[in-house]
Amino acid sequence: MKSFKKLLVFFLIFLSMIMAACSVLADKGESVLPESSGLLKVTFIDVDQGDSVLVQFPNGKSMLIDGGSGDMYGRVAAVLSDQKITKLDVVLGTHTDNDHIGSLPGIIKNYDVGNVYLNGTSDTKTYLAFLREAANKKLKIKELYQGDFLQVDPDVKIKVFAPVGPNEDSDNDHSPIMKLTYQKKSFLFTGDAEKSTEDMALVYDKMGLKSDVVKVGHHGSTTSSSPKFALAVAPELAVIEVGADNSYDHPDKLVVNRWQLLGAKVYTTAKNGNITVTTDGTYLKLFAGKNLEELPKIFSDDKGVAKTIGTYYVGNKNTLVFHDPECSSVAGMNVKNKVLFPSRKEAFTKGYKPCQICTP
Ligand SMILES: [Zn+2]
Ligand SMILES: [Zn+2]
Repeated sequence: MKSFKKLLVFFLIFLSMIMAACSVLADKGESVLPESSGLLKVTFIDVDQGDSVLVQFPNGKSMLIDGGSGDMYGRVAAVLSDQKITKLDVVLGTHTDNDHIGSLPGIIKNYDVGNVYLNGTSDTKTYLAFLREAANKKLKIKELYQGDFLQVDPDVKIKVFAPVGPNEDSDNDHSPIMKLTYQKKSFLFTGDAEKSTEDMALVYDKMGLKSDVVKVGHHGSTTSSSPKFALAVAPELAVIEVGADNSYDHPDKLVVNRWQLLGAKVYTTAKNGNITVTTDGTYLKLFAGKNLEELPKIFSDDKGVAKTIGTYYVGNKNTLVFHDPECSSVAGMNVKNKVLFPSRKEAFTKGYKPCQICTP
């Protein structure tokens, strides 16, 4: 009888353990987990003459860096809605100029926002609206300076290289130069940082500036992208956020040539619309919204819609020629002969020559 009681107790304990385990499973099933893609996605939003970049992290979180001027609110909201984003974990204004933070008061008002950053102060209406909307949401505005790290996704490192602190003389030079690294690929963001801030970044960590993608500083103006700075960054892709026929004559031809000479493919939002770069941490892929004639012919699409451009390359071990992944000769290539390169530079280093048809 005693042993039966013992057995019963054991059985009841066992039963309660199973039930507890089941309830945990049920809880997990019901909870809403953030959508995790394993991809880092960066969209340079076409906001005419101004900057706006949406970063979507592999863990499903998102960050908006700048939002263009106030009348560009609709364009930013359209991208957020397209990406089904209702919550922005970070809203970051690089500096107080209207072409960067103009639409941000509206964004802070209408979206669920986690953290707000803005370097510098001003007396403009836009800036005051920014302060008001942040205060209404009880959000404390933080600043980012040299040596700071921003954590949104534990797998993505965001490091601030410059400036060392506020700059009384120049709004533009409040812009943080910051590098985002996801495994083997990296993006450098610069806002409107000019030469003196670039110099601070060079002094701080010249080697660390090397990046695969750069958002070219100050809309491609000669105030920024100094030869030393460009050489240290030496990217594969350079994106210039700029409006068509703007009154500033941005981007400057010299600046565009400088990045191109360093081996970068240069895209502008004026010509290519919204520009999206995704990476799994090893390869980059670029999607451009318009003006496909600017892109290699091999990628043109009858419908004239966005088309993928491979920014990884496929080499043929037999011929020692490398191609864009969508080149017709890649489709017919024997798998045994295929070798992938994460960059053009790597293909060149290994002794491969670019294909004459797809001109990668
Ligand atoms: Zn600007
Ligand atoms: Zn500015």
